[in-house]
Amino acid sequence: MQDFSRRARKGGRRIAVVPTMGALHEGHLSLIRLAKAHADVVICTIFVNPTQFGPNEDFSRYPRSLDADSRGATAAGAHVVFAPSVDEMYPAGSQTFVDLDRLPGVYEGKVRPGHFRGVATVVTKLFTATLPDTAVFGQKDAQQVAVVKTLTRELNLGITIVVGPIVREPDGLALSSRNVYLSPEERSAAPSLYRSLRLGENLVRGGERDLGKVRRAMHAELVNSRPTAVDYIAFVHPDSFEDLAEMRPEGTLAVLAVRFGTTRLLDNHLMTTQGESR
Ligand code: AMP
Repeated sequence: MQDFSRRARKGGRRIAVVPTMGALHEGHLSLIRLAKAHADVVICTIFVNPTQFGPNEDFSRYPRSLDADSRGATAAGAHVVFAPSVDEMYPAGSQTFVDLDRLPGVYEGKVRPGHFRGVATVVTKLFTATLPDTAVFGQKDAQQVAVVKTLTRELNLGITIVVGPIVREPDGLALSSRNVYLSPEERSAAPSLYRSLRLGENLVRGGERDLGKVRRAMHAELVNSRPTAVDYIAFVHPDSFEDLAEMRPEGTLAVLAVRFGTTRLLDNHLMTTQGESR
């Protein structure tokens, strides 16, 4: 992989990488198209990364469809699909990991201990394998974006991080490889995440400035759809994931995580006080 990338760079070609765990859907494909706009060569990586799954999580049952994914990635414009094995990425006895001090301790990181250590490690290894100029990630995983931007800056990797918008089903549910786990009843309840985010933004745009009130209204909207649990609803700074007590002029990131049965769904939206109500 490095040989390929070195040759491409030597030829003056710019490389963009789109890291994925496969089970590609329109959200992933939109990132590949976005990558094409930033580079001459697009590498899509497909690797179900064991170190970002907790012991009771879905690593073994995570959907895997490498052949169909390769065709889909290529059709969307990827020039290379890099799908290493677990042994190649983590030779037996591996003892080098990338970790951050604070970001992995809140929200997704708090619910999923070790998750962001796994993400930071694999992203760094995928970067050093593919040697990109640009890497493209989805806003869907907002805290992952914050982790990747932080480590890229602090390790001086010299890679530009580009973030693509969340691609949704017509009813508002954010596309996710994990949506296949939802039963038909759970699937029809799941658009409450997006409804809740829109409700929050509409309240703020209507002049509500008490984020506690906004949060309660959003919680009620979620609970209406009878989820198994609401893990969190929070208003945070998009870069640091620090809690915000009031709206920030540049935008406040509303993040939520909800469980339907054993399936955890995430969604988020950058709320602004100005603009069209939706
Ligand atoms: P995953 O395969 O779930 O690890 O996701 C790979 C990349 O696709 C990550 O950068 C995700 O944030 C991004 N992604 C996943 N779902 C969506 C979506 N619905 N819209 C945009 N990007 C997404």
